[in-house]
Amino acid sequence: MTDDEAKGRPAVLGDLVRDRAGLAIACEACSRHVALDPATLAKRLGYDCSVPSLRARLLCSRCGSRSIDVQVRYAGPGVISRADQA
Ligand SMILES: [Zn+2]
Repeated sequence: MTDDEAKGRPAVLGDLVRDRAGLAIACEACSRHVALDPATLAKRLGYDCSVPSLRARLLCSRCGSRSIDVQVRYAGPGVISRADQA
């Protein structure tokens, strides 16, 4: 069982747009890294497209590999307030 399954429901693109999260895509074959905007992806794939299903749908634009690692990056107000206190 994965972490997503343990929580009951995997995050979908609509959740990331609402949470202002970002997506970091990494190709495991050629190490290409790309940052993707969830809102742009949601318009293409649908707001109910789950993050785990992205792994199956994306492919590397450099080498064409389907071994893609998808990571969600949260950068909310909490990060900014901690920086202000430092
Ligand atoms: Zn690649």
